[in-house]
Amino acid sequence: MKLTFIGAAHEVTGSCHLLETNGKHILIDCGMEQGPDLYENQELPIAPGDIDFILLTHAHIDHSGLIPLMVKNGFKGQIVTTFATADLCDIMLRDSAHIQEFEAEWRNRKARRSGEPLYEPLYTMQDAQDAVELLAPCDYEQRIELCKGVEVRFTDIGHLLGSACIEIWITEEGLSRKIVFSGDVGNIKQPIIKDPKQIKEADYVVIESTYGDRLHGDERPDYLGEFTRILRDTFQRGGNVVIPSFAVGRTQELLYFIREIKEKNLLSDFPNYDVYVDSPLAIEATSVFTKNERDCFDKEAMELVDQGINPLVFPGLRLSVTSDDSKLINFDSRPKVIISASGMCEAGRIRHHLKHNLWRKECTILFVGYQAVGTLGRKLIEGAPVVKLFGETIEVAARIESLKGISGHADMNGLLDWLGGFESDIKHVFVVHGEDQVTDSFAETVTKRFDIPAFAPYSGGYVDLATNQILSKGSPIVKKKVEKPEKLRAESAFNRTVNAGKYLLEVIMKNEGLANKDLAKLEAQIKNLADKWNR
Ligand SMILES: [Zn+2]
Repeated sequence: MKLTFIGAAHEVTGSCHLLETNGKHILIDCGMEQGPDLYENQELPIAPGDIDFILLTHAHIDHSGLIPLMVKNGFKGQIVTTFATADLCDIMLRDSAHIQEFEAEWRNRKARRSGEPLYEPLYTMQDAQDAVELLAPCDYEQRIELCKGVEVRFTDIGHLLGSACIEIWITEEGLSRKIVFSGDVGNIKQPIIKDPKQIKEADYVVIESTYGDRLHGDERPDYLGEFTRILRDTFQRGGNVVIPSFAVGRTQELLYFIREIKEKNLLSDFPNYDVYVDSPLAIEATSVFTKNERDCFDKEAMELVDQGINPLVFPGLRLSVTSDDSKLINFDSRPKVIISASGMCEAGRIRHHLKHNLWRKECTILFVGYQAVGTLGRKLIEGAPVVKLFGETIEVAARIESLKGISGHADMNGLLDWLGGFESDIKHVFVVHGEDQVTDSFAETVTKRFDIPAFAPYSGGYVDLATNQILSKGSPIVKKKVEKPEKLRAESAFNRTVNAGKYLLEVIMKNEGLANKDLAKLEAQIKNLADKWNR
């Protein structure tokens, strides 16, 4: 009865935990690391071929993205998850494989010219398809026997369509223990999907901590009002609203809100505008949402469904599947909405739409999600006057706007509320899936609030669930900085410094209203730093 922490330990991505009991090896999530990582993940202590089951909390790539690699390396067991997650994995793992193959091909074109060794993709489309074959979906709330001595149940955790926390009951040598993996805990009152459900009993809880030290704030953004204003302003100027959007989740939210704007006639001066969804992945994901409405939609969305209304469909919705469909959008001169991926403008069809719309001052580029440092999306938000697209310099004349969305993650209070729902005595809480310091601070918060021992393991740490003993805390092995090609090189050290300065200004603005004593401290620190470099 042993639990080993592999990924998302003192980090936010790459979720992966290994449970060993009754002679079986069970992985909970098998995610890909995304973005900058601080620590090395320990290797799995067993070969993929010796893993019996993978239990998957949800389809996001940082929880599911390495499953095809496991399959490539010999995993032949079942991947147990909800029906909606299985459907989303079918499209997202294939999309991930496509990206791996595309990147390898791009690198190899260069490698062939320079005579360097060829680069092998992490996994191929065939590996992803083989992984999809192993998906064994089950219903929410259904307690199933995984193998002798192990039962599992998936319960809606309200983070993404199909997302679940996983309860696992273990009986080994006459001893019974129950462990609950939170997965990513959802935010309340998100459109379309349900709020997280609480669990009553556990001996051990493994909980995420993405927002373990932050609050979303009481005020909920007036999404609908703000969105309507942006559409009206742009249409009055005769321009298009171009929205770079993540294909799964965010795009469906946008469709949900646009349907409401149209249905309530909030834009009465422009009732007949078209909305193009120009992303095959987003279109497939939207049909997965509709297919799983009975299991996954919240009360408001289901009320529409029960009236025979599809909450993600409305008059004027146009889906562009082929690249010819995509090109035709440019021939439609009427003001319209174009939703396309990728969400940070790094790849995909959105770049064509930016090329055609960025230089037109009557258009608006509307950002609806987080833009990481170094991406084209971030540059536009930070006010770049020109950008390069397909080798061409394009002037940024369009209006750049951002719509503050509803986060998919519970904040600190949401996480504590969910933990507060347990009625049994918890022996230990393990905190994962958060930034380095945040995991430790959230563990402290949990202990203070509930008087339960809580601990944030590093990769390689393991515990004996029978005796409640932490046998190893794991080790923080700092990753050596690998020069990640293209993006990093393109961003010079000077640009990074300028961005750091902008970030500092952002932080200052955010702290308006802080106690004078603290402001004075901040001012002194900034002056100190500036004086040191002013030479
Ligand atoms: Zn997630």
